[in-house]
Amino acid sequence: MPAKTDSALLFGTPQHMGPVEMKTFFNRRTFIKQTGALTTGLSCSLNGVGVHASESPAISKSDFASLRKHLRGQLIQQGDPDYDVVSRVFYWNPAIASKPVAVVRCEHEQDVVRGVDFARSHDLEVAVRSGGHSYSAMGSCDGLVIDVSPLKRIDVDPKNRVVRAQAGALSGEVARVAGGYGLAPVLGQCRGVSAIGVTLGGGLSWLSGLYGACCDNLVSATLVTAEGKTLDVDDESDPELLWGLRGAGANFGVATSFEAKVHEIGSVLAGEVHFAVKDAKAVLRGFREIMHESPDCFQATLNLTSGERGLFVSMCHTGAERDADQMLKKIRAIAPPIREAVGRQSFAALAERAPATDSGKGPSPAFRGIQTVYRDRFTDEIIDVYVEQLLGGTPDVVMGLSHYMHGQVCRVDPTATAFPHRREHSIHLRASFSWSDPLLTESKLAWGEQWRDALRDESNERIYANYQTYETAAGSPSVFAQNHARLLALKQKHDPTNFFHRNANIAAGRSL
Ligand SMILES: Cc1cc2nc3c(=O)[nH]c(=O)nc-3n(C[C@H](O)[C@H](O)[C@H](O)COP(=O)(O)OP(=O)(O)OC[C@H]3O[C@@H](n4cnc5c(N)ncnc54)[C@H](O)[C@@H]3O)c2cc1C
Repeated sequence: MPAKTDSALLFGTPQHMGPVEMKTFFNRRTFIKQTGALTTGLSCSLNGVGVHASESPAISKSDFASLRKHLRGQLIQQGDPDYDVVSRVFYWNPAIASKPVAVVRCEHEQDVVRGVDFARSHDLEVAVRSGGHSYSAMGSCDGLVIDVSPLKRIDVDPKNRVVRAQAGALSGEVARVAGGYGLAPVLGQCRGVSAIGVTLGGGLSWLSGLYGACCDNLVSATLVTAEGKTLDVDDESDPELLWGLRGAGANFGVATSFEAKVHEIGSVLAGEVHFAVKDAKAVLRGFREIMHESPDCFQATLNLTSGERGLFVSMCHTGAERDADQMLKKIRAIAPPIREAVGRQSFAALAERAPATDSGKGPSPAFRGIQTVYRDRFTDEIIDVYVEQLLGGTPDVVMGLSHYMHGQVCRVDPTATAFPHRREHSIHLRASFSWSDPLLTESKLAWGEQWRDALRDESNERIYANYQTYETAAGSPSVFAQNHARLLALKQKHDPTNFFHRNANIAAGRSL
């Protein structure tokens, strides 16, 4: 097993930095102060990968005025009224605190081309943002943010069972439109995750047991490359690039729209069953048993917090009513339920609902952090760590076990798409936490690292692109496994300067 890096937290860490640089890296500002690398307006190279300057002094007011004139959407700069809102992403905290030079809010696909051309010609680092839900805040940077979230058009072709959507469409929005035709997309479980963002990173859905990963359902995409060219990518025009988009997609350009398969889904049995914290061990064990033998048409997530929401299983059963009721009975038998909100509903109603992990009460927390670990097996040791952390933890912490891997997603060969981590009975672990006092940042992030390290030894240093919160000594092969060499060649062909590096980066710790 490769050695761990000492300080592997990715928040605010340029992914093109290798393990050596990452050891000394805590926060982007510290790095800038230490090296001066990002303030010179020049490109430099770490590990043979281009680093783009973030605060280029060479950009004049008239350059920005010209960009603004040619955009259909807005150009938002520091000092503009909306700047503070648009410069933030979901997992935002003082350690990542990037300050974009400007944000292009794309109202037309040509705005993406103009943003890419502007960033390239002014040597600005670029971040691409759609839903803003990246665990490692990749949707922001100190240079130019190309924000595709206003691109919202969604069309369904019911005859061919395909949805065509622009890049700003969120998972919940696509589910709502497809639901109007009795169809369902294979997209994120949280309504706010963008459809394209989750798909380009692989994508695990309520429906993955039946229909595979989100990326297995991707049919085509329109992509703006680092050179500002627009490519229509499908199995005929460029099968190799389509293969790469299915799991490593953010590396190759900005997708402005895409097509994906949708599936006929009737009503589902879905909702939450809550349990008392004192029953944590029994709930974890019972959940494991249920997941171990779950049918393709079932998926569930277990969330645990010492806060008022306690422990809750969120479930979705798309099969026959009788089988679904049987499954609910099994969940209720794990331990005495203290509350329940489960019912038959349309798939769209489930997909559009606020996530159960979001209490919906009061203003959002000022700062958020998250850590994740991918494990081959749901072991007793995981249960012990969860129980221990739950009993000693603070109410802001929510630990989760999600996407228990089974069914169709595991039947697809790991090399059939760029997304390789498809082992049956593997599971994704997560701990998210929030705080409001900036002085707590260091201790909160340190808690997250400790939690991760308690579980990481058995992870075989594998990382799922969409849940990347740290980097291993091996770098990007941890994310792309046996597909890595093929992806490096594709990256070399389509983005040899690593212009698009705010992502689960193929070149992390590697030379192109
Ligand atoms: C609450 C929550 C729930 C989640 N649920 C799931 C889930 O059920 N299943 C799952 O697999 N993952 C899930 N995720 C992870 C999620 O899939 C990834 O974080 C995903 O990358 C988010 O995409 P986004 O567009 O919303 O985020 P952003 O932060 O906008 O982007 C994330 C990454 O995708 C790239 N990207 C975004 N749009 C484009 C584009 N148009 N073209 C090229 N690159 C682009 C960005 O550059 C960045 O690297 C969840 C995350 C959160 C925070």
